[in-house]
Parts: sequence; structure tokens; C-alpha cells
Amino acid sequence: MDLRKESLSQLPGVGPKKLEALQSLGINNVYDLLFYFPFRYEDMQAKSLDEAVDQEKILLKGIVASEPVVSRFGYKKTRLNVRIMIDNESVMITFFNQPWLKDKFETGTDVAVYGKWNENRRSMMGIKVIDVHDNSVDSVYSVNKNIHQKTLINLIKAAFEKYHDQIDTIVPAYLRTKYKLLDDEQVVAGIHFPKDEEQSDEARRSAKFREFFLFQCGLQSIKHQDESENVGIAEEYDQEFVDKFVQSLPFTLTAAQTRVIKEILSDMKSTHHMNRLLQGDVGSGKTIVSVIAMLAAVTAGYQAAIMAPTEILAQQHFDKISRLLAPLHIRTALLTGSLTKKEHDFIADDIKNGKTNIVVGTHALIQDSVNFKDLGFIVIDEQHRFGVNQRKALRQKGTNPDVLAMTATPIPRTLAITTYGDMDVSRIDELPAGRKKIETYWIRSQKVEQMYQFVAKELAAGSQVYVVTPLISESETMDLKNAELIYDKFTELFGKKYQIGLLHGQMPNDQKEDVMKQFSDKKIDVLVSTTVIEVGVDVPNASVMVIYDANRFGLSQLHQLRGRVGRGDKQSYCILISDPKNESAVERMKILTSTNDGFVLAEEDLKMRGAGDLLGNRQSGLPEFKVGNPINDINVLEVAQEEASRLFNDEKLLNSPETKALKSFINDEYDQLNNFD
Ligand code: ADP
Ligand code: MG
Repeated sequence: MDLRKESLSQLPGVGPKKLEALQSLGINNVYDLLFYFPFRYEDMQAKSLDEAVDQEKILLKGIVASEPVVSRFGYKKTRLNVRIMIDNESVMITFFNQPWLKDKFETGTDVAVYGKWNENRRSMMGIKVIDVHDNSVDSVYSVNKNIHQKTLINLIKAAFEKYHDQIDTIVPAYLRTKYKLLDDEQVVAGIHFPKDEEQSDEARRSAKFREFFLFQCGLQSIKHQDESENVGIAEEYDQEFVDKFVQSLPFTLTAAQTRVIKEILSDMKSTHHMNRLLQGDVGSGKTIVSVIAMLAAVTAGYQAAIMAPTEILAQQHFDKISRLLAPLHIRTALLTGSLTKKEHDFIADDIKNGKTNIVVGTHALIQDSVNFKDLGFIVIDEQHRFGVNQRKALRQKGTNPDVLAMTATPIPRTLAITTYGDMDVSRIDELPAGRKKIETYWIRSQKVEQMYQFVAKELAAGSQVYVVTPLISESETMDLKNAELIYDKFTELFGKKYQIGLLHGQMPNDQKEDVMKQFSDKKIDVLVSTTVIEVGVDVPNASVMVIYDANRFGLSQLHQLRGRVGRGDKQSYCILISDPKNESAVERMKILTSTNDGFVLAEEDLKMRGAGDLLGNRQSGLPEFKVGNPINDINVLEVAQEEASRLFNDEKLLNSPETKALKSFINDEYDQLNNFD
């Protein structure tokens, strides 16, 4: 029976008011109610007196040693006193305003009382009297002002009594056998009304798998639906042409680059609709991989587009790509928001009539005024910087173009599984040969002189230096003021011999580009900047990154900033200036100086900050799990992912009666999951 279609008003005592109260907790039907799990338990196991802690709640068992005495005080207040022998000690228990409890204490009989222990007086303020035979734990639910704990518990009990043998188990039997999981009736009972901790633990273990598995099946279902509805384009690209281009590059591709290119090209060639995430640490050379793929698409007769999150980055990609591809007579165009209307219309025309083969742009690409003749391949650089809708909008500029999403923020394994279960993942796991490990140092601001000396030495050796100034949230003017102060300082110290440049978010775009260009042409030696340079900028000769107030940045962001150096064959350095005010900031500085591995950092970041934060608000579609925790329960999550993927690739299993309940559940949830991406 589908309990999601069963109205709560079927339960005794549920009228419009209670319905509304339940809705305010997100409980809309009987299924929701049964799966509204407690967030913790109160231990209802009787303890011995040795375990009693002052002012903490405890359940004690003993023998009633005296007649209970009820006395009145104040206005209508009562106090009930009774002595109980516990572990050979006579303990006074006092209940306020529950005179009727008197009947529960019969001298010489066993009794169990739950209450707050007072160590000084060796007495207890009683809360309730428990059935001596009841060794259970009490569930505690998260409620709001519209509904009481007690009401909720009673409703759950009523619902369970009425519907318990109609709860369909969703996880197929073969998996329950394989992993020793409970059926859904047992899960619900074990979590709401456990006899003891062991039972609730066991039920939770099954519930976690169930929750992760359902989610993963949802992703798989989206993926398969996408594949069957949207037949991708089989791009017949010119392999020879592509190979020639690769050979003409000034460097040899790394083995990892070659491998991911192969993965991407084989997707492009097949009718499989490519939806691939390319992960690779900063500096691992993702751009050239995407250029090769775009080139292949062009040789197959399609247009390609690459969307970057900032103008600086788009400009830089454009410069690189057009320089590489112009000799091959491939026409590229740059489309950003800062074009005049005339320029925009001109470029948009060429995109529309197909004169332009490859378009590089910012989110300006997704404007209504931009239309392609035949967009077959799209690249989304720094994909986590775009919202789901922006990515979708670009996809809709073509008819089922293949999609390559790139990210330099190394998504930790955990999150990759939770959020990208519907994507194929390629990973570049090595840096180009000859790269030296960036040395990272952390100094306190009082030692800033040391940094100046170091910078002087590096400049003398012909290096270029980035100086990133603090990010002061909410105020661009403050950011700017800071950058200007530091710019003045560097001009004072080094201005005679070297060129100092300033870059900040409030500069007009052409001026920003100009400064970036001067820096990459080595006309500027020291670039003082706000965080506008954070993403993707590539100047191989720069070998020092100085970051002021580093404690204001998160781990991943610091790693991104650091990744601006170490891009050539020079030894590079990152100097963090920071006076951390709390433990976690100290921790971040230590982690940064100890590892260069973006994946390690991302895992740490996730642990320290939580998932939503790491991915930014834009990814707030990140699922919230009720029972499982994707970080702590990573193993369960992985198994769930594996099993979901195996199931959806096994036609026979998928059509067997064993998976019927699962499929109907997933189909109904499909819309909801589809909104997720
Ligand atoms: P990211 O992966 O961070 O986007 P980029 O694509 O910007 O990295 O590449 C970083 C730098 O490394 C660029 O200057 C690029 O030209 C260079 N590069 C890419 N692949 C190789 C390679 N196989 N050998 C040497 N240098 C490479
Ligand atoms: Mg990049």
C-alpha cells in the first residue's frame, strides 16, 4: 500500500488544526509520519548509583522504603516525598505537582524512577515513574511550537498500529539479504520504539542504507532517463586533425590528460549523451583538454562553446584558444557582458550563422540574444561557480550538446558521489612533468618584514609576485581601500626598480584586462589584487603568492589562490600572512602548509565547514539526509552508489518483481529529484 497517498486525517484525533501542525514539520501523509525519525534518544536503561552525575537525568531502580508523603505549599502546589532503597542506600525522591503518583509507590515493591540527580544531597528530583519491566529508550523528536513531543509520539504510535503490516519495503530483498538489512516495518519500529540501544542502532544502519540507496537510485534514474530520451550527437570528428594538433603543442600531454581526452572523445563519438565532470587540481592542465575536445567537435561540423565564471578568465581562455587555433582556420569569438550593443550584435550574428566555430564567454552566453547555428559541444569551466539553471540554459542553446563540466575545486569523494552520481567523472590526477612542489609558509603579521625581504630576492631573480589582499565581506570599497594601502606600501618599497600593478573588482573590464595582460607580458612585476584573480588565471612566470589575512579565506579558496603560482618550472612559494583568532583558523594554516593535495584539502574543508558552505549557496540543492551523514557514513554511501548503479545497468533485475516497490517509489519522486539537477 502506498502510504504516501494515505491522509493523516485517517488517524484518530487528527483534525484540520493537527494537520496543519504536522505540515509545519513537513509531515504530509502517513508515510512522512512513519518516517519522521527521532533525532536522539533518552536513555531509559536503569543505572546504578555510581553512574549518577550531578544535575543529569538518570533512571534508577529500587525498592520503595517508605510511605509516600504529599504536602501542600504555596498556591495549589504539591510536593511528594518518598524514600527508595537503591544499592543499599536510602535515596529521597521528590516530585512536584504530581500528587497522583502516590499510588505508584507501595512499600516493599520494585519501582523505577526517572529524574535529575542531586549529588550534594544524594537525592533526586523525579520526572516520571517508569514501568519496572520497561527497559527501553525514549525517542526525542524535533518539534515546533505547533505540536508537542507527546502528541507526535502518540500519533506515530497510532499510525504504526494501524498501518504496520502495510509498510512496503523499498530496498529489494537481494540487497537486504546481502547486507543483512531489516525490512521497512522493522526499520520504523526499531527507530521509533527501540527496546534498547542495540535495536535502534541496527534499525538506523538499515535506514541509512535505505536513504542513500533511494537517493542514488534517483540519480541513476535521471541519468538513464536522460540517456534514453536524449540521444546524444555522434560526432564524427577528424582524428588525424586532432592528433596533429596535439603533436603541435609546445608540450607533451601528461598520461592523465591523454587518458581523459580518450574518455571524452569516445563519449563524443557515440550516441551516448555526454554529461561528464572533469576534475583536476589547479594547474593540472584542464584547459588544453577542453580545447582538444572542442576542436574535435568543430572537425565534426559542430560549434563549441566554453563558459567561464569571470571576464578575466574568459579573456584569458580566448587569448589562448584563438592563438592556438587561428593557424588551423578555426574562428573563435569572445562574448562577455561588457561588449557594446553593436559589438554584441556583430558577434551574435556570426554565432548564429555559423561563421564562428568556437565561442568563449561568460554567463553572457546564455542571454536570449545569443543563438547558435549548431551547438554540439559545451564546456563549463569552474562549473561549481555556476548555478544549475545557468548550466541548463547553456545546454538549451543546442540540441542535446555533449557537456564537459570542469572543476578545479576538487570535489571530495563524498560529495562527488552525492551530487554527481548522475555524471560520469574523469579525473586528471597528475601535474605536468617538471612542476615543483609549491612551498608554503605561514607568518604572523608582525613578521611581515621577512616577507618583504623574500619578495625582494625573488624579484631580483626575475620572478613575478602576486599579492592578494584581504577579503572584507559586504564591502567592495573596504576591499579596495585595503588593496590600495598595500599597493602604496609595495610601491614605496619596490616602486623604483619594479612595476607595481593594482587589480580590483571595481575597475572597468577593459582596464582589468589591460592590467592582466601587462602582468602576463611581464610589464608588471608585482600585482596587488583583491580576490578577482582567484579563479583560473595562468601566468607561469609568477612564482610568489602572498596572501594577507589568510585566516579570512576558506581552505579551498586559499588552495585556489596558491594554485596561481607553481605553473611553470620555477620553484614557487606561497606566503600566508595571518594572525588567526581561533583554533579552526590555526588548523587551516597548518593544513595548508602541510599539503598541496587539493583533494585532501577539500575533504578537510568539508569536515570543517560542512557541505553546503563548500559548494556555495548556488548548490543549495545539495540533498539533506535525515539518517545518514555523507561524511561519517561514506562507506555506506559508496556501497549504496555501487548497488544503485549496478541495478540500473541490469535490465533484467530492474524489470523483476523484486524491484517493483522501489521503482514505483522512485518514479513518484522523480520530479522532485529532477529539480535537483
Ligand atoms: P587548470 O587545470 O588549473 O585549469 P591550466 O589548464 O590553466 O590548468 O594549465 C596550467 C598551465 O599548465 C598552463 O600554462 C598550461 O599551458 C600548462 N600545461 C597544460 N598541460 C601541460 C603539459 N602536459 N605539460 C606542460 N604544461 C602544461
Ligand atoms: Mg582552469
